[in-house]
Amino acid sequence: MNKGLLIVLSGPSGVGKGTVCSELRNKQNDLVYSVSATTRVPRQGEIDGVNYFFKSREQFQDMIARDALLEHAEYVGNYYGTPRDFVERTLASGKDIILEIEVQGALKVKEKFPQGVFVFLVPPSLDELKHRITGRGTENSDVIDSRMSVAVQEMSLIRYYDYAVVNDQIDSACHRIQSIITAEHCRKDRF
Ligand code: 5GP
Repeated sequence: MNKGLLIVLSGPSGVGKGTVCSELRNKQNDLVYSVSATTRVPRQGEIDGVNYFFKSREQFQDMIARDALLEHAEYVGNYYGTPRDFVERTLASGKDIILEIEVQGALKVKEKFPQGVFVFLVPPSLDELKHRITGRGTENSDVIDSRMSVAVQEMSLIRYYDYAVVNDQIDSACHRIQSIITAEHCRKDRF
């Protein structure tokens, strides 16, 4: 049996990774989603174990010490990380898994899994990105400014990715990512 594909979807905060990811999962129910751990406080409506595993800083440090995370990164004052076991078990069972993570973490995953499929979701423009982050209404203006300056740095790292997909419309972005997944399954080196 072939191992599953490790798909990393990343790109700046506010570009719509979360929306694209949940839409992809609706369209492709064999795609497994990796739930991250974070020290960020839950937003309204977020559920522990569904959106994130919400952890204290001590709990998160303990996960790092136990080598329980495939990667982790500090992002705008909080830790985020991918639980290792779940990813490894999913791939070994032959299923595809998608990680929705920021750029530093994606580059760390690339060192460990160079055979992964790395997709950068690109905003139609930086103005549109700011508009989307502001429109979410969940962050104050300092956090919005920090997220925008991180976004500009992140955009310069597209070159490390295999694919760049512009998120102009959710449906077309999902369609392009599905085509990428199909093509990756047909790579001759998987046989
Ligand atoms: P948010 O606070 O908006 O949920 O997420 C902030 C950023 O952290 C987003 O770019 C999101 O993709 C990223 N992120 C979420 N989970 C992880 C993770 O496990 N590892 C890393 N490196 N980034 C993550």
